[in-house]
Amino acid sequence: MGLIACKFGGSSAADGLQIRKIRDIAAANPDRRYIVVSAPGKRYDADNKITDLLYLLKAQTEHNAPYGQLLQVIKERFLGLEADLGIHVGIADEFITIEENLKNGATADYLASRGEYLSAKIIAAFIGYDFVDAAGLVLFSAKGKFLYEETNDALGAELAKHERAVLPGFYGTLPDGSIKTFTRGGSDITGALASRAAKADVYENWTDVSGFLMADPRIVENAKAISYISYKELRELSYMGASVLHENAIYPARLAGIPINIRNTNIPDDPGTIISADDKPQEGQIITGVAGNKDFTVIGIYKNMMSNEIGFIKRILSILEDYDIPIEHIPSGIDTVSLVIADKYLDEKLGDLIEDFEKKLGADSIELYENMSLIATVGLGMASVPGVAAKLFGSLTEAGVNIRMIDQGSSELNIIVGVETKDFDTAIRAIYSAFVA
Ligand code: ASP
Repeated sequence: MGLIACKFGGSSAADGLQIRKIRDIAAANPDRRYIVVSAPGKRYDADNKITDLLYLLKAQTEHNAPYGQLLQVIKERFLGLEADLGIHVGIADEFITIEENLKNGATADYLASRGEYLSAKIIAAFIGYDFVDAAGLVLFSAKGKFLYEETNDALGAELAKHERAVLPGFYGTLPDGSIKTFTRGGSDITGALASRAAKADVYENWTDVSGFLMADPRIVENAKAISYISYKELRELSYMGASVLHENAIYPARLAGIPINIRNTNIPDDPGTIISADDKPQEGQIITGVAGNKDFTVIGIYKNMMSNEIGFIKRILSILEDYDIPIEHIPSGIDTVSLVIADKYLDEKLGDLIEDFEKKLGADSIELYENMSLIATVGLGMASVPGVAAKLFGSLTEAGVNIRMIDQGSSELNIIVGVETKDFDTAIRAIYSAFVA
């Protein structure tokens, strides 16, 4: 027998129908012993997430606006769940406490956390698991710094006392016992923490999609799901804009070498995506995904005999440091160096920066290329396979995309190309179909 820790997101806890799916999924495999849940999410497009309503509640009281109606809406969502699922966890009493605390100036963190707290109480009662509160187990320092090891010890010791338990995600406590939340979407982090603390064999993260896709479905129609991805590849893809799990959510699981399986609550038989701690490429899989980011500027600097000038790049870097501007890539030639910088860091600094470069570098020319995008083709399977780059560049040429920059790390984990932003979608589609379709 193994041990599985699960996390169910807001869409999986949105209503009675969804919570019944959680029950069925838990029942389908007795290894699923620890379950972290989010607050109820949207039931339909125009619906509200409970967490958003709870933050709104705080905002209304801060502005001295009447909050009664909003509190009632939130309360009714939970009362409705209690009635629908035929359980009694004291929701009405819980709301008396919540209202009292609200009147006494409860913090936004406390209010927001009540979504997860009540969701976990309801789901635990419905599926017959113990309820284990995250308060006192998920721990922050007095300054609000998250405490990994202390949490791991406290959580591990408590979980060991429960054969099966449901825990609220998203929050923990400060040393004085007051509630502190993670950033939005933080239940993923709690799920990873519980996996590590329980020494789970797998961390199943249940959501409303069947895993990560190889490309953005808004660009590539019917993009295939990634069945298997290493933590390293995932980091490359998420850095390049693919929407995947939050870095902090991955960290505890990665630290403990626990694979994460992204699954779809609505199609529980889909195997989903496995994020694995081991860096072996899957048989026959050359690329794992394609992702990109828009809005870069390339500053091309040319200086005759640059390659002989000691400290030239260092001077460039120290000027950028003075402006507090990070660089994405620095492809270089013998007498040229290009700086690829995200527009958001340049903003109104660009004019002054170029002026400084002109004054301090003695360059022969400084050119600006705006509206550039970077596209990363990621895959451990590319390493030592001849012809991958040729295929990639060939596909772009065929699609009429001009490649403005190329960067490939020697680890051969990814190939990054710079293209004009107008060609962004075309380039992603071309690369995807060259390798996948
Ligand atoms: N309910 C919280 C949010 O909406 C946390 C989570 O669902 O992960 O951000």
